[in-house]
Amino acid sequence: MADLDGLIAPRLARLSASRQRRLLRAPDPALIDVSSNDYLGLSRHPRVIERACEWAHRHGAGSRASRLVTGTTQAVLDLEARLAAFKGTEAALIFATGFQLNSSVLPVLFELAPSGTRPLLFTDRLNHASLHAGSHSIRQIRYHHNDLGHLDELLAANRGQAGELRFIVTESVFSMDGDRTDVAALARLAERHGAILYLDEAHATGVLGPGGRGLAAPAQDIVAPAALVIMGTLGKALGGAGAYVAGSRALIDWLVNRCAGFIYSTAPQPAAFGALDAALDLVPAMDAERARLARLAEDLRAALRERGCDTLGSTTQIVPAVIGDEAAALEAAHMLEAAGVLAVAIRPPTVPTGTARLRFSLSTALSDAQFDAVLAAVRALPAP
Ligand SMILES: *Cc1c(COP(=O)(O)O)cnc(C)c1O
Repeated sequence: MADLDGLIAPRLARLSASRQRRLLRAPDPALIDVSSNDYLGLSRHPRVIERACEWAHRHGAGSRASRLVTGTTQAVLDLEARLAAFKGTEAALIFATGFQLNSSVLPVLFELAPSGTRPLLFTDRLNHASLHAGSHSIRQIRYHHNDLGHLDELLAANRGQAGELRFIVTESVFSMDGDRTDVAALARLAERHGAILYLDEAHATGVLGPGGRGLAAPAQDIVAPAALVIMGTLGKALGGAGAYVAGSRALIDWLVNRCAGFIYSTAPQPAAFGALDAALDLVPAMDAERARLARLAEDLRAALRERGCDTLGSTTQIVPAVIGDEAAALEAAHMLEAAGVLAVAIRPPTVPTGTARLRFSLSTALSDAQFDAVLAAVRALPAP
């Protein structure tokens, strides 16, 4: 008899034995949250909530159909035009989630390779799972994390035949390390090698760059619009849900025609569009909040380094504290929790083996008193 449960049970047991089993749990809401990606506190901003409610009242709880059927309103088209203006591109398209976007947009781009050729794909080793999910169809040529010299060598060694498409896919801020890609240098490399650049701005959007527009702008000065694809998410600093891809008009028109993850999916909820509408009003004027966020991150890194913790290359609101051993990382997370601080331990396979860590993601929603409590809890951790 077919028995999925019988096949699953020993596998779950193996995960438990190696302490890699993941369990859903509901964190105590009284804890000070330094694990969410709500970097500007917008998920709780009264105007964002109010606008989400307004859109739900006006357009409904759900969008009722996919975008190409009845899921598009003039208000949604206006919102996409605002997003494109925010990112400095000709056009933009909203998806229900970033995972859906990356996993369904990349294959459409690879399909553009001239017939008889195979696209070449160069990826940072630490790219997000959704970028991998979009890359199953072709072999990835992986470069060492943020090592543009290595990427340069790989591009030189894998020239491909004439007419072959080459893609460089990376995050502009890395979700688990909190370090940045040198976007200008990367764009020069892409330009020199004639490669297409795909930038994931999930953790930069709203937080970094002038007006919180992200880190892509230097690439836009170097790479032609037709060789640049930018995506970002709406559920992190922008406080709502969903994701956008921004680029040339032709790219967006092609995705509307070819991208299964867009075409065959119900349009995002009106409330999510409403939240974005308000976030786009607020984010450009939040320089003071962005400056405070940067200061909090500096102070946290200093406190962690005093404890002897490696914070890797973090220069952003995402601050890792590498513990190394998985059990020790869990123990550190428990100690912080006992001190009232929610800093989740991140373990392999989300991060490379031997680099289990606490991942702090800071937010301007933290009061000074709450942040002081985080620093005190960090200072009380045993040195690794
Ligand atoms: C969160 C994240 C995504 C996925 O976005 P969702 O909207 O949460 O599905 C994609 N890329 C990176 C780098 C992310 O951190």
